[in-house]
Amino acid sequence: MTKASDTVLAGLDGIRADVEDYYRDLHAHPELGFAETRTSAGVADRLRSWGYEVTDGIGGTGVVGVLARGDGPTVLLRADMDALPVKEATGLPYASTATADRSGNAVPVMHACGHDVHVSCLLGFARLMAQADGAWQGTLVVLFQPSEENGDGAGAMVADGLADRIPHPDVALAQHVLPYPAGYVGVRSGAFLSAADSLRITFHGRGAHGSMPQAAVDPVVIAAMCVVRLQTVVARELAPTTPAVLTVGSIRAGASPNVIPETATLELNVRSYDDGTRDHILEAVRRIARAESDASAAPREPEFETLTKFPPTLNDPDTAERLDRAFRAQFGESAGTVDLQTASEDFSDIPRALDTPFCYWAIGGTDPDRYAEAERNGTVDRDIPVNHSPTFAPVLQPTLDTGITALTVAALTWLAPETA
Ligand code: ZN
Ligand code: ZN
Repeated sequence: MTKASDTVLAGLDGIRADVEDYYRDLHAHPELGFAETRTSAGVADRLRSWGYEVTDGIGGTGVVGVLARGDGPTVLLRADMDALPVKEATGLPYASTATADRSGNAVPVMHACGHDVHVSCLLGFARLMAQADGAWQGTLVVLFQPSEENGDGAGAMVADGLADRIPHPDVALAQHVLPYPAGYVGVRSGAFLSAADSLRITFHGRGAHGSMPQAAVDPVVIAAMCVVRLQTVVARELAPTTPAVLTVGSIRAGASPNVIPETATLELNVRSYDDGTRDHILEAVRRIARAESDASAAPREPEFETLTKFPPTLNDPDTAERLDRAFRAQFGESAGTVDLQTASEDFSDIPRALDTPFCYWAIGGTDPDRYAEAERNGTVDRDIPVNHSPTFAPVLQPTLDTGITALTVAALTWLAPETA
């Protein structure tokens, strides 16, 4: 019996040139979060032409395509569509020269995180699955999400009634291109990406002449004490084996050396890998900020604003194990266990809201020869452009083939389990 994955992937040669053309066009036309109108319209058109039942405009620019083929599990696969305000410096013939308006300013826009790879691969996969729909059974849900970079696109789709607008998935899957050698596929059980929370604290003091501190409550001192004290959260409140980061990236107060200002603000970023640690750190931040305000007899409690909020990406162990076996069977030596990543993602907001187990994996995008040379020289960190860099430029192949193949093998692990 022919394996279902071989049957589906037999169509890859026939669509490869088209996938590559589509990728180059998408790379040249990046759009920022919630402005992915050209991208989502193109996605919806293509899905409809291949027979998918399409719902668009979910959570702004989100698109979902559903292909139902009889009884069987429902598998959701997701790609993110948004680009970044980065000026492209790859020198590629299909480099972006696009700009977008952000708060009245023109900003350059670039697919610097490889979401163009994700969209191209998910579309290529969707097309192959439609062409070979005798090879599998169940329901396929392909989901194209807006605004991952701001951490609010998945949540926007959920808030717009996603759960009631799609068949309930039994498993949810997603992949991300990372600066590993192209051809590589890596998964891991449990924690994969960190939770990231950015918040602003505004301390309220009482302004006065710089020469009359007795008339003031100095918010500069409150903020400074708070920055120092915050260093103890990870160092003194967490076990040494619990990875976490708390960074104060911005401190702002005052405009003149002889004026004690009214307020001071801190902006900080927290990275953690489980909900308990995350809750602990965020509560400790509030406790310390309030206590430092109290210690200085501030006239008002500090205010807290959430700037961005990404959940931790915690792969379901059973799902990860099934995928690990499937990837090793398909890719051999090129499949492996990927390192724990410090970056963050909002994908898991979708399966968490749907109460669906999920798994996220990495595919490489770096020219394998270039990667091998950097590895020999011990210069991987310096020489290999990472996501969000203006020179981040995944090689077309084998990156796109690998992404399509990984999605196919993963989906068929549920949709054609005996023969995948
Ligand atoms: Zn990114
Ligand atoms: Zn990304």
